[in-house]
Amino acid sequence: MSEPAWPSPPAGPCTLAASLDVEVAILGAGIHGAALARELTLRGVSCALVDKGEVGGGTSQWSSQLLHGGIRYMLTGDIPQMREGLAERAAWARIAPRRCRWEAFWMPHRFWAEGLAHRFGIGLYDHWGADRPGWPAELRRGRVPSPVFEADPRSAKGPFRGATAYADLMTWDRDLTKDLAASSEALLLDHHEPGAFAEEGGALMSLQLHDRRDGTPRTLSARRWVFALGPWTDGALAAWFGDTRKRLRLSSGIHLWFDAVPGCERPWAIRRPKGRILFVIPRDGLLQVGTTEREVTDGWVPIQDSEREELFQALEENLPAIAWRRLPVRAEELGVRPLVAAGGATSHLSREAVLEPHPHFRNLTLVLGGKLTTARALMDRLATGLTGRPCEASKTKPLRLWDGQAAGIR
Ligand SMILES: Cc1cc2nc3c(=O)[nH]c(=O)nc-3n(C[C@H](O)[C@H](O)[C@H](O)COP(=O)(O)OP(=O)(O)OC[C@H]3O[C@@H](n4cnc5c(N)ncnc54)[C@H](O)[C@@H]3O)c2cc1C
Repeated sequence: MSEPAWPSPPAGPCTLAASLDVEVAILGAGIHGAALARELTLRGVSCALVDKGEVGGGTSQWSSQLLHGGIRYMLTGDIPQMREGLAERAAWARIAPRRCRWEAFWMPHRFWAEGLAHRFGIGLYDHWGADRPGWPAELRRGRVPSPVFEADPRSAKGPFRGATAYADLMTWDRDLTKDLAASSEALLLDHHEPGAFAEEGGALMSLQLHDRRDGTPRTLSARRWVFALGPWTDGALAAWFGDTRKRLRLSSGIHLWFDAVPGCERPWAIRRPKGRILFVIPRDGLLQVGTTEREVTDGWVPIQDSEREELFQALEENLPAIAWRRLPVRAEELGVRPLVAAGGATSHLSREAVLEPHPHFRNLTLVLGGKLTTARALMDRLATGLTGRPCEASKTKPLRLWDGQAAGIR
């Protein structure tokens, strides 16, 4: 299943030497791998960033693209995770202003008491998230005035009587990941397939790679290794080392991208059962809708009809004035969340992250779970642990744009 789905590499040679040596080898160039490459560069430590595909070509391009505290944690009571996300949101707004856009999200309510509860919860969320660098003065938080709410076509004929607006940060996930990589001096080994590892005395020493573009073999040696392979972690450890311990549970989520609907100007965050949120977000000239939760077994899985149907039913139930099934779907995407393994339904699993020292290889660390939002902080912690050097600039030094393109182009 995973092999045929791996996107083909672009044409063109890679000019790197056949034998490469760095202090830290990072496998996986998603948001975690790319953030770690920047952290190591900020500390003056050499590294290589290896990926079988392109930088930001995995889960980190299929998220809901929010750098947020997670308003749903207000419902599930996971306050420490929410507060960490809110603090990190401010750090992203400082270091990546070109990839961030503040928004006033509307959370609609069905009846008066629910509106009161939302105002209380959102009041706390915005209080704890009061550090909002660059917040545009014209964006309004708090109770949405009735005439403004009623002017939005999503409010007609539905169950909602009003809404409360809260602040959150939108991003462009794949571009943010590429910017992190571009803000590092890592040797970039994208489109490289890992082969055999050499080990010695319980430590990884080197890795044979082949360039998927032209088949060139390369050898990468490093003193330390970090695997940030997102949902592919368990599969890779099983294939490379016969290590079959299940560390992650995988949960797919889909987004549908509709044509823009006139009058839908603010993003909506609609509460659904089981502490889930249905986002309806106008962005990039389209209307992004998501997301779902389905337990899966691989990082590459196709979208199922039942997932599309679930979103359509949720839209029709909550926002019946819009003829959703007649609106053209311009794109649909599925991402797989790597969730740290635990019992229960995946919708209740926390998005926490774990840095796990590998039980057999003493110089290998695994990055498990996590979110876009907390990736910088987590990799800051990991880089400090690996090098013994903290780095204040991590939270303040602006990112370099990966190819100078304008922000917001997907
Ligand atoms: C539907 C959905 C919505 C989400 N929304 C949000 C959100 O709004 N906000 C938020 O903060 N988080 C969100 N997340 C979570 C977030 O997207 C992920 O936690 C994050 O992107 C994971 O990044 P990563 O670097 O760990 O993994 P990935 O981005 O998947 O990176 C892993 C990399 O490893 C590479 N790789 C895999 N196997 C191999 C191999 N054998 N050899 C070499 N390379 C390999 C892949 O090509 C990939 O590039 C969402 C996730 C999903 C699925």
